[in-house]
Amino acid sequence: MLRVGLTGGIGAGKSTVSRLLVQLGAVLVDADVVAREVVAAGTPGLAAVVAEFGPAVVAPDGSLDRPALGRVVFGDAGRRAALNAIVHPLVAARRAELAAAAPADAVVVEDVPLLVETGAAPTYPLVVVVDAGAAERERRLVSDRGMDAPAARARIAAQADDEERRAAADVLLPNPRRDPGVPDPLPGLVGRLWRERLVPFEEGTRTGRPGATPEGRPTGGDERRVLARLERAAGPARLTATGTWPLRAVVSAEGALAGLGYVRAGRGRWASADPGCAVRAEVRVEAGAR
Ligand code: ADP
Repeated sequence: MLRVGLTGGIGAGKSTVSRLLVQLGAVLVDADVVAREVVAAGTPGLAAVVAEFGPAVVAPDGSLDRPALGRVVFGDAGRRAALNAIVHPLVAARRAELAAAAPADAVVVEDVPLLVETGAAPTYPLVVVVDAGAAERERRLVSDRGMDAPAARARIAAQADDEERRAAADVLLPNPRRDPGVPDPLPGLVGRLWRERLVPFEEGTRTGRPGATPEGRPTGGDERRVLARLERAAGPARLTATGTWPLRAVVSAEGALAGLGYVRAGRGRWASADPGCAVRAEVRVEAGAR
C-alpha cells in the first residue's frame, strides 16, 4: 500500500486529478468528506466543538451550523486555532483509519487542501501538487463556482502561495489555463504518473524492492524533502553525501521509515522504493547519529 498526498490551491484541479486517479484504480480519501464526517451530528467531534463554541453553532436539526461557526472563527486567528486543534487531529485519525482499511496493494490518494499549510507534507511517501497560478484559480472560482472575485481572492490569499506549495512537491502536475479547443494534457500526465511512478512505487514498498538510482543531480529541493521526511520518520537525520545520487543519509533510529516508502536494503540500510527517485536516499542507521 502506498499513501500519496495530493494537494494544490483552491481551484487548481485537485478534484479533477482525484477523479482521474480513481478511474485508474486509486482509492481516494477525500479530506473534505472526512472533515464533514468527524463533526457530523451525534459525533464526539461535534460535541467537542459545541463544548468550545457553545450551542449557537448547532443547527435545529442537530448538525453543525457551518455558517454560524464560520462567523465566529472568521477573522479571529485564536478561535480558528481552537477549532483546528479539535478538528485536525480527528481528521488525521479518520484519514489514517480509511487508508489502513484499503487493500494491501492499494494506492491511497489523500486529497488534502491544506497539506502544505499544516506541515504534513513530510508525513507522506509522495506529495503530488496540482499547479495552476493564482490568477487562473481565481478565474475558475468565479466562472465555474460562482464565487465573487473578492471572496475568491480572500480564499486564495488564506492559503500557501504557489512557491511554498511547489517547494513541497515531489511531483508537480501543471494544470494551467488552456485555450479553447486545445486538448487537455492532464489525463495523459496523470496516466503517466500512475503507470510510471505510483504503481511501481507501491509494488516496491510491498515487495521490498528499492527504486533505481536516478540520473542527473538532485536539487536542493530534493535534498530538503528527503531530510524533512527522514526527520519526521526517524528523528534527527543528516545527509552525508549531497549533490549526487543516491543521496546518503544517516538517521538515529529506523522509526517509521517503512511508512514513508523506504525498504530494507541490507543490514541497517534502507532505500526509497520510489522509482521516480526525486526523494531517493540510502539510509544507514547508526546508534546516536546526529
Ligand atoms: P480543486 O479541487 O483543486 O479546488 P477542481 O478540480 O474542482 O479544483 O477544479 C476547479 C475548477 O476548475 C473546476 O470547475 C474544474 O472543472 C476547472 N478545471 C480544472 N482543471 C481545468 C483545466 N485544465 N482547464 C480549465 N478548467 C479546469
